Amino acid sequence: MPKLIRLLATALLAIGASAGTVLATAAPAHADACYTWSGVLAQGSSGEAVRQLQIRVSGYPGTGGVLGLDGQYGPATKSAVARFQAAYGLTADGVAGPATFAKLYALQDDDCTPVNFSYAELNDCNTTWSGGNVSAATAKANALVTMWKLQALRHALGDQQIRVTSGFRSVSCNNAVGGASTSRHLYGDAADLGAGPHSLCTLAQAARNHGFAGILGPGYPDHNDHTHVDGRPSRFWSAPNCGVASLTGSLDPLGD
Ligand SMILES: [Zn+2]
Repeated sequence: MPKLIRLLATALLAIGASAGTVLATAAPAHADACYTWSGVLAQGSSGEAVRQLQIRVSGYPGTGGVLGLDGQYGPATKSAVARFQAAYGLTADGVAGPATFAKLYALQDDDCTPVNFSYAELNDCNTTWSGGNVSAATAKANALVTMWKLQALRHALGDQQIRVTSGFRSVSCNNAVGGASTSRHLYGDAADLGAGPHSLCTLAQAARNHGFAGILGPGYPDHNDHTHVDGRPSRFWSAPNCGVASLTGSLDPLGD
């Protein structure tokens, strides 16, 4: 083509390419400061994207359930996702797509904690998460899961405040408050909840639906002034004044 037109065409192509670049960078997939999912996750998916999803829906395992954080999107994960979706008015198909991820982005802070809880709130013992019965990294990771369960509990109770009065404890912090030597506070997955606006029994009863294997509350020794929840390996629930009991009725193997 004539040189002038060729130049014009080249210029137009350059502008077009430039505009295309601008458009491409102006409308990326959602970029979240904590974690960004791409595509759709469904039963059969696996990997880190699934594990990140499992952490965030760990408060939706169904009554008495505990969701495994294994990165495998099986039936339990599908059900947990569906309960999460139903809780927030989304189509409850158990498939995690853009609407589900958008809700999760809205619910998480840049450090991956749910918006209504913080690492500081779950650790008034130290800032390092060290000195407990597990590594600092494990204690902090356990606290994150606990916070997502608390976020689910909070939403189920009308999005009113839940007050955490004690979370992670080092051995020395635990000794200072007279905690049991096997206390789950030493693992970072425990939280003591104070009354107001919810009663301690309301908290203990509702906690059964949100992934807490350990629940101790009113009527259990030394638990008339708080409700304790945790992520111990096997279920122990005891809040006799609230009608909360383990189905097995076994003795508490771990203490609080
Ligand atoms: Zn406790």
